[in-house]
Amino acid sequence: MKFSSPKQIQALLRLKSQNFLTTSFFLDTDKSRLTKKQITVFFKNLLHQGRTRLETLEADRRKKDSLAEDLEKISRFGTHVLPAFTAPGLALFSCAGENFWQELSLPRAPRNHIFFDRTPYVRPLSSIMDEYHHICAFLLDRQTARWYSIFMGEISLLETLTSDVPSRVKEGGWQGYESKRIERHIDAHLHEHFKKAAQKTFDLFKRDRFDWLFLGSKEEYRPDIEPLLHPYLRERLKGWIKTNSNDSGDKILKQSIEIETKLRQEEEKALVQSLITALEKGGRAVSGVREVLRKLNAAEVQALVVTRNFSAEGRACPKCRFLYVNEIQCPVCNVKTEKVQDIIHESVHSAMDKKCQVRYITSPSRLDRFGKIGALLRY
Ligand SMILES: [Zn+2]
Repeated sequence: MKFSSPKQIQALLRLKSQNFLTTSFFLDTDKSRLTKKQITVFFKNLLHQGRTRLETLEADRRKKDSLAEDLEKISRFGTHVLPAFTAPGLALFSCAGENFWQELSLPRAPRNHIFFDRTPYVRPLSSIMDEYHHICAFLLDRQTARWYSIFMGEISLLETLTSDVPSRVKEGGWQGYESKRIERHIDAHLHEHFKKAAQKTFDLFKRDRFDWLFLGSKEEYRPDIEPLLHPYLRERLKGWIKTNSNDSGDKILKQSIEIETKLRQEEEKALVQSLITALEKGGRAVSGVREVLRKLNAAEVQALVVTRNFSAEGRACPKCRFLYVNEIQCPVCNVKTEKVQDIIHESVHSAMDKKCQVRYITSPSRLDRFGKIGALLRY
């Protein structure tokens, strides 16, 4: 199943077994960075790690049997499903004792990890979700209104509304005075319909807290609708969808994704600009892998700004988990550091562990000239 909704996290969290533990298994399966062989090796290492941990785990027989069965199931997944798995990230949750099993394909690579715990370990899922915007597409027509939720490239219908607005009077069919009176009457109906729809949008906002609002209506209605929207909604109104009232969800999704992509590009551009401004001022920012890692180790990073798919080799201290470009020995712990395949990937996770924001930039961008990575600092 594709990971695409916060509901999936909530559903996982509802699994709270009284008698058993749950295995959560996260694997980096990003083929743009890793070969198939590397992925298989990581999978086996992780499974081995799980088995070793299980041997020394202090828990009753039933719990341990259930975990052993989890690992068995994961191992079978590795043989039968993993070779054809295409998503950049994999999450498996298993609690054999409760007969629970879930596979999720992730849109971004997680850090390789296996956990045994009372509840499924969902933090990697929530951090992936933070990268996406919740969008509400609000489609308004003379008599109807529809609301869609768009998130992580998926669309779902939220609500519909139908009002009884009389059709517009044909020109010349009425005496002047009578016609004007009826027009006003219809306008009042239409206005009422728009007001109801605007209120409903605000109700949905209070419930769902979407980030962006995209509005689809006839051009001529725009000046009537906008003032009816609550200020919170006007702030979030980021795009206009060209639409017919009978457009399918797919068509709306396609347009919304186009708008979202454009908005994201603008956001990225502005972010890179603010980073460069801070760098040039010699202010609270650094760039380049070495400097960024130094500040990350010192927990001074507020926001990490990374070029998507940028990777580099590096080293990590097995004791304090500090990250280095090429230190053979950790200057803090005086122990030998270990080689890591992708220090950028590690830095993203280290940033998340420290509750820093992680922002991604699509290359080519002006960040390329600054070593493809930068950080805004706390102090
Ligand atoms: Zn160290």
